[in-house]
This record gives sequence, structure tokens and C-alpha cells, in this order.
Amino acid sequence: MGRRLEAKCKQCRREGEKLYLKGDRCFTPKCAIARRPFKPGMHGPTSRTRPTPYGIQLREKQKAKNTYGLMERQFSNYFAKATRQVGNTGEFLVQMLEMRLDNVVYRLGFAKSRALARQVAGHGHIRVNGKKVTVPSYQVKVGDVITLSGRISKSKLFADETARLEKYQTPSWLHLDAASKTGKILTKPQGAELKMSFDPKLIVEFYSR
Ligand code: SF4
Repeated sequence: MGRRLEAKCKQCRREGEKLYLKGDRCFTPKCAIARRPFKPGMHGPTSRTRPTPYGIQLREKQKAKNTYGLMERQFSNYFAKATRQVGNTGEFLVQMLEMRLDNVVYRLGFAKSRALARQVAGHGHIRVNGKKVTVPSYQVKVGDVITLSGRISKSKLFADETARLEKYQTPSWLHLDAASKTGKILTKPQGAELKMSFDPKLIVEFYSR
């Protein structure tokens, strides 16, 4: 499978905003958006180009794709699936992205970034309804119970995490039991929970050109 090679902080700098791709570092003064608040590249600091309507749509699509750490093909497949459903395509798109297993692991606080969540899932440390799932793109369903494998929940990485998870705020469509490190999908994300840093309407316009 393809792999994204561009540095994560560059992706944020290109969009001009934090996409929170690096976990804890994103909340420190070391964040590249705070230290170098201009576009990457030789002309970045002096760039003054005014984006075209197409450019604006493209940036929204790139922002969404980079936020979830997807390749172009994967992202356009999600869009194609969303268009096959009856209703608001943009909302279906965000719903599918949010219900990816790696995103749910991240939203439950089991990993500090989606990249780490993808790794934890890919290495077989996640159980869905008690069964090992190693596919980060797996679509969870309402009622699914997400747990960590016994090995990783006892590992150094998670041994001291209970206190942090107890204070952790999950979105209202998820329930987290910090003590047992168990998450449950209560509903599909809806309404305000589908509000992201990108505008799905512009993504629909981008693919409808
Ligand atoms: Fe983006 Fe995080 Fe890097 Fe800041 S530290 S630029 S939020 S990935």
C-alpha cells in the first residue's frame, strides 16, 4: 500500500492551520504552525497568491484527506461511496471517515494521533466485539465494543493512561469506560459532531466539477 511521505507539519503549514497530526507536540510551542506560520517552500514566506474557487475547493479536499491520513485513491473511494447514498453527500462522507476504526481509536483517546491509532490497529492490538481487527479502515457499526488487546493494555504505553483517559472528553456518539479501557459506539456521528475543520460542501463541489 502507498505511504504518505510528506512531513506532517508541512501538511499543516500548507493549509495554514493545525491539523493535529502529531499528538502531544501539536499542543506545545514546538508546533511548526507557531514557529513557521507560512507556507512551506522557497517562496512560502513571501507568497501572496490569491486562491481561485478551484484552489479553495482543492485545499478543503486536501485538508480532509490529510486530517485522516488517507491517500487520494482511498479518499475518492469514500466520496464515491457517499454519492451512492440518498441524502447529504458531504455528511455521509464525514460519517464514513469518522467511523473508520483508526479514527474511533483516536477519538476514544487510546492513541494521541490518528497515525498512532492506525499503527495500533494495524499491529493487531484492537478488538472489535472481542475479535481481533487489523484493518485500520474497518467501518465500525453502532453497538460495536472496542477494546485493547490484553498485551497492549498491560504494556508500558498504556499502564499509566487510566488517569488521562478518565479526564478525556470523547464525542457524544462514543462512550468510554476509562477503567476497563473499553469504548462503545452509541450512534453514528450526526449534526454538530460532523462539523470539522474542513467544509464537506466544498469537497462535494470539487468532485462534481
Ligand atoms: Fe501540525 Fe501538529 Fe506539526 Fe503543529 S505539531 S504543525 S499541529 S502536525
